[in-house]
Amino acid sequence: MAFVFPPPPQASLPVVGSALLFPVHRVYCIGRNYAEHAREMGHDPDREPPFFFQKNPDNLRTDGTFPFPEISQDVQFEIEMAVCLKSGGRGIELENALGHIFGYAVALDMTRRDLQGAAKKLGRPWEVGKAFEHSAPCGPVHPVAAVGYRAEGEISLDQNGERKQTGDLRQMIWSVSEQISVLSRFFELTAGDVILTGTPAGVGRVARGDRLVGRVAGLAELRIDVV
Ligand code: MN
Repeated sequence: MAFVFPPPPQASLPVVGSALLFPVHRVYCIGRNYAEHAREMGHDPDREPPFFFQKNPDNLRTDGTFPFPEISQDVQFEIEMAVCLKSGGRGIELENALGHIFGYAVALDMTRRDLQGAAKKLGRPWEVGKAFEHSAPCGPVHPVAAVGYRAEGEISLDQNGERKQTGDLRQMIWSVSEQISVLSRFFELTAGDVILTGTPAGVGRVARGDRLVGRVAGLAELRIDVV
């Protein structure tokens, strides 16, 4: 059967060293996964089970720009490592979780913090703060076959040449394996799913004209111009 109108394009990410694209299914994001960031957001990192929210697959943006969004007066960067799955399932055991990873990318969880804050206060969903157009600038996917499993090393963000965020992947409260295992109890994970694994402390505001450079040890740096 034909569609009543042409279907939207498949969201995808480039793959390092390949002419093929990684097709994106869903985008999951963990909240408050580095203790210092949880504290800067006013939370106690020690007594909280992991929680997740989602962005839309077509919020991913790969052209090196971040168009400053409408509505918000407080748009902030969050540097994160993205984990890209090649397979999935339900109830994935911790020891099998890494086997589902296709590769890793450097991503930004751009946030309309004022709208997110208002939503939090009212007990409303976070989509207006998190899942808006172009809210997930992302670099290419580095296959595990090329870079191995990434569980340690520096993660950082520079804004206009100044270091703003810094941390180490080892500081994740919930490891990548734990995130996959927990997520798979709530959702059926599939090939094409992307998980943003949380941000270290130091999040801050962006303005038009900013140059953001995100780095995760072992992956190509992500350069984003705020336009
Ligand atoms: Mn985040």
